[in-house]
Amino acid sequence: MTTETIDRAEVFSRPSAQFDGDGNIEVRASAALGCRRALWYAATGYEPTNPPSDDSLTAMEAGNALEPVVARAMERAGWKVDAPDPQDPKQVAVRVGPNMLVTGHPDGTVRMPLPEGEAAAPQVFLFEGEPEAPAYGDSMVVEIKTRGPEAFKRWRTLGAERSHPGAVAQAALYTLGEFGEIRPVVIATMDTGSRTWDYEVIPADRLERALQDACGWLGELGAHHVQNGPDPDALPERDFTANSWQCRSCPFLAVCLPGAAEDDGTDEGAETEGKEVTDEEARDAVAAYAEAQDSIKEPEKAKRTALDTLKAWMRRQGDSKATVGDRTVTLVSSTRYSVNHRRLNEALDPETRAGIVTENESEYVRVS
Ligand code: SF4
Repeated sequence: MTTETIDRAEVFSRPSAQFDGDGNIEVRASAALGCRRALWYAATGYEPTNPPSDDSLTAMEAGNALEPVVARAMERAGWKVDAPDPQDPKQVAVRVGPNMLVTGHPDGTVRMPLPEGEAAAPQVFLFEGEPEAPAYGDSMVVEIKTRGPEAFKRWRTLGAERSHPGAVAQAALYTLGEFGEIRPVVIATMDTGSRTWDYEVIPADRLERALQDACGWLGELGAHHVQNGPDPDALPERDFTANSWQCRSCPFLAVCLPGAAEDDGTDEGAETEGKEVTDEEARDAVAAYAEAQDSIKEPEKAKRTALDTLKAWMRRQGDSKATVGDRTVTLVSSTRYSVNHRRLNEALDPETRAGIVTENESEYVRVS
């Protein structure tokens, strides 16, 4: 084990909130939109009743380990990345109220390569034939995230302000801490399934709003602190309900919602609708599915080969319709339209996008 791992782990395992010796409540930027009661539990020294499982810790560590991978991918794509020293990451602190600080460690700053012809100033070359240095835009904070395939897709489609507002608030606080002003920010995300990455730029005016929302949210916790002092029994109201993901993954679930903690894991089948299915029936269903899959594989392959042959033949004929035996063969042309979500998300604020890109929940079963 290297000291780098230990140092980094120590830096990032700070509690989500704590009181400093000067009467401030200090909140981690990554928890800026977190449940304020959970922050109070952390700051007043409650022991976590539901610490993260080994699997969650592994997922978290894998996410941290992939951050430099995303940074290098950005560099290969032409970005100028200034990443912090992993042994001594830079901490920023932002005061969001008379008795509240938000602190954290930004993933770095980046400068976007400017398209050719958009260099800010004419370049001077000392030597003839010297390669032209790339031109970059202004420095921006980058917030690097890793997401599973579904969350990655959701982020790309909805934009970070709708899919992961906590990450945007975190980036807004880092920007203020890093530059002393609000600038556009970059959210770079890697899909942990396909190992592809993408980015979204959030313009400064929308980041300003995210910052105001986060300050308003945390300001109420600051007011609670002014009113009650660091009293562990003066609990703020719950911000979420028992069936939310925030509560289900909350380290203080058992103390806050003991009933929900008891239900958790012991009553997993309660939400299953419809008929009761035994384990035996589930095993039979998987076997039947696999058999059906195998039985259609060959015919599907034969169908594809035949259609490819016919497509080549129709193209050579130059006709879009032909009769072969008693069948009609048609070469169908269609146009596909795709949306550049990165540009859409950058151009429109979240409310406008919500009227255009809508969400529908559905569920299905995948057997692999
Ligand atoms: S269980 Fe839910 S309401 Fe209670 S502290 Fe945790 S997140 Fe907040």
